[in-house]
Amino acid sequence: MSSQNKKLPTKPIEATKTLKKIMARHFYELDEASRTGNKKIAWCTSVGPAELLRGMGFLVYFPENHGALLGATRMATELIPYANAIGYSPDICSYLTSDIGAYLQKKTPLTKAYNIKSVPRPDVLVFNTNQCRDVQDWFAFYAREFNVPSIGVYTHRDIAKIKDYHIQDIAKQIQDLIPILEEVSGQKFDMDRFKEAVALSKRTSELWRACLESAAAIPSPWNFFDATIHMGPAVVARGTKEAVDYYELLLAELKERIEQGVASIEGEKYRLYWEGMPIWGKLRALSELFASLKTCIVASTYCNSWIFDQLDPEQPFESMARAYTELFIVRDEGYKEDYIANCHKLFKFHGIIFHDAKTCPNNSNNRYGMPERLTKRLGIPAITINGDLNDLRCYSEEQARTNIEAFIEQLEEG
Ligand code: SF4
Repeated sequence: MSSQNKKLPTKPIEATKTLKKIMARHFYELDEASRTGNKKIAWCTSVGPAELLRGMGFLVYFPENHGALLGATRMATELIPYANAIGYSPDICSYLTSDIGAYLQKKTPLTKAYNIKSVPRPDVLVFNTNQCRDVQDWFAFYAREFNVPSIGVYTHRDIAKIKDYHIQDIAKQIQDLIPILEEVSGQKFDMDRFKEAVALSKRTSELWRACLESAAAIPSPWNFFDATIHMGPAVVARGTKEAVDYYELLLAELKERIEQGVASIEGEKYRLYWEGMPIWGKLRALSELFASLKTCIVASTYCNSWIFDQLDPEQPFESMARAYTELFIVRDEGYKEDYIANCHKLFKFHGIIFHDAKTCPNNSNNRYGMPERLTKRLGIPAITINGDLNDLRCYSEEQARTNIEAFIEQLEEG
């Protein structure tokens, strides 16, 4: 039986129907703009300055979301070598290599899902290096291909305490994007429109946080694998009313599940934290494995990374600078450990899974002794699973299964 035909191990979430419509509309709107030129399109990194782009009237497309789709549809692994062949190493971000491979091969998962032939053509590319340098090089490839500007924000990295000078610097860099964006869009910057996008993004973030924190309930009404799917609008539609409406709907459903005692994993016995990137091509298999072990992954750094509730429409530039600099991925080990310790207080998990993603050192936090320090500090075990976000050649399903089962046994032995 193919995994597609297997019964989902967890109770389906009703809001998924609305989610599918939102994601479809997002891609159809971009496709129409790309074909007709009726609206300008900005490509943006997933934690880039999306509010500014929306506030300036751009439709916003996120290549990392496309990368995740390439991973989830398992198209990525065979497309990566085409990017390797033109010099992009198999060791760098496999979102980048699979996305460029897909472009070179003129393939996209959007065709099967939405009958869309290709990703939308950009008018401008806008990045923030807060997450990694790969995004800058990824966009540089497309800037050459499409002959459009690639502009960005260069963020300080590995920061312990955020200082005012960090914020002032980033706020100024965001402001400095405006003249080029005005030139591309042919429209003058409108402060009120920008503030409105910031306000909607803030509201989206507050609701997304509330949805994620609903998993603190015991038993949890949903899990990490659900959240990786339902985070779609927080990534691609933040700064729009549609995203706000969606998370109001989802939150109401999650609250109802809590009130009725509906568990994501029937008979929930263990609760875990997932640290690192999802393994997109194995979400279903892992979800089934954890369900069979009566284990719910209740929280993750990854899904929390789209909470930007520092945003403040009264101080749009400064608050954007703060929201996009205070992020987990931008911080030092001490901050990250405190962050996970706070999550432990809230979500009461019994252990931590670190995913060491071969091609994303930026989102692999097991490499400098953090699992060992957290185990000691929190008194709970941790394991590391070797794998990758998109390149399944780096992942051994058998080995992961054995390690996870042994880890749960260890929990059982207490
Ligand atoms: S953070 Fe990792 S997965 Fe994301 S774009 Fe950078 S290298 Fe790729």
